Amino acid sequence: MIKPLVAGNWKMNGLKAASSELTQLIQNCPDTESPESPDIMICPPATLVAGFAELAASSPVIIGAQDCHIHEKGAHTGDISAEMFADAGARAIIVGHSERRADHGESNELVKTKALAAHRSGLAAIVCIGETEDQRNAGKTLAVVEEQLTGSLPDEISDETVIVAYEPVWAIGTGRTPTVEDVAEVHGVLREQLINRFGAETGNAIRLLYGGSVKPENARELMSIANVDGALVGGASLKAGDLLGIVSAYSPG
Ligand code: PEP
Repeated sequence: MIKPLVAGNWKMNGLKAASSELTQLIQNCPDTESPESPDIMICPPATLVAGFAELAASSPVIIGAQDCHIHEKGAHTGDISAEMFADAGARAIIVGHSERRADHGESNELVKTKALAAHRSGLAAIVCIGETEDQRNAGKTLAVVEEQLTGSLPDEISDETVIVAYEPVWAIGTGRTPTVEDVAEVHGVLREQLINRFGAETGNAIRLLYGGSVKPENARELMSIANVDGALVGGASLKAGDLLGIVSAYSPG
């Protein structure tokens, strides 16, 4: 059985005062040790990673980061390396988010190199893929996500070092979600692709997150779909109460 993960992507949101949300999350999160409970992760902006990691140090909440440079160090003004995030206390890095792909023209090849940079520094990579609305309307969803998965994942991975997040671009921040059948179809195809490429043991153990307008109201339905092993959450991760509402999709009842 795969241990699920609920990961919050804060994007470019959050000042120091937002640590009160993390404190609230820590104080109210369920025991993540039990196999049914999801792991809980917050990926704040870079400015907050070290402080959050310190605050969450003896708690079940894991701290991650958003994006990294491909190199360890050097003349890259304004960039942050995976090693720096590891040093700050992060345990994972989101790479290939559609906002990076769109705003910064990031290719699958670059995303793969960033995933390798995360691995080099001992961090897991949360690799994001997903189709645009035009691609979906053109019937290209499966072809697009298969190509992104193939191109964005390095060959040497394990279920510890890679997490895949399927995030339809048109569902991000819009309040719209695909149907249960659509999510099941995409996640089924991605699972098959992971098994074909990495073998049954690894392919079946890699966590496949769904992301795109997940909120407390729809989490239970989305998280119960076959091959959905958790959620990558944007807007609803900014408030501890909302994220806890999503986490509670995993509690019985
Ligand atoms: C995201 O950007 O990763 C995301 C899933 O955003 P939202 O939950 O706000 O749709």
